[in-house]
Amino acid sequence: MKKLVIDLGHGGYDPGAVGFGGTKESDVVLSIGKYLENMLKEVDLDVKFTRLSDKYVSLSDRVKIANSYKADYFLSIHINSASDKSVRGVEVWMYSDNDKKLNKFCSDLCEGICGVFKIRNRGVKCSKDFYVLKNTSMKSALLEVDFISNEFCENDLKSEDNIKAISSVIKDNILKLYDIEDDKLYKVCIGSYRDKSNAINMLNIIKSKGFDDAYIL
Ligand SMILES: [Zn+2]
Repeated sequence: MKKLVIDLGHGGYDPGAVGFGGTKESDVVLSIGKYLENMLKEVDLDVKFTRLSDKYVSLSDRVKIANSYKADYFLSIHINSASDKSVRGVEVWMYSDNDKKLNKFCSDLCEGICGVFKIRNRGVKCSKDFYVLKNTSMKSALLEVDFISNEFCENDLKSEDNIKAISSVIKDNILKLYDIEDDKLYKVCIGSYRDKSNAINMLNIIKSKGFDDAYIL
């Protein structure tokens, strides 16, 4: 089975960046992680999180978790911050850009997330300075969702719907990265009948309208 490690930045006594209204980076990425845990449960992929509660995990422990799990990919999730409070935008960091699939994953992730908040796409960048990117033995990326130092961003991050939408963009791109088909089927129901003959009558009506694949459950 293919494996993924999702690293939720900060936690415990390390809140990461904190917005003007007190929103903590560590809490926001934890909420995203919890949605992702749920969304990826049914998927044919082994996923390990470096944390799923508000606890401190050192950078070297995060790397140890990923390396001993022998994941194919490592995705670290963070929220950005800047002294210029007007700055917003999404960016994704990689250690190197020599993997075509990872490059595509990162650029699609940027595009998807800037679509949720209608923010600037700051793009995919490379850096040798992120400890977790440098020391994990698998292909890795670090997502900076938006800037919590901006008060509009902080407000946007308070909405459960937005957190869910961001998680959903991340999930969709993970599925693409691993070539996993999202085989969720949307079924159309027309009614429930206690009497079987009524169900058969209804089925005949539907079939007479040309819906030959209709069936009784
Ligand atoms: Zn961070």
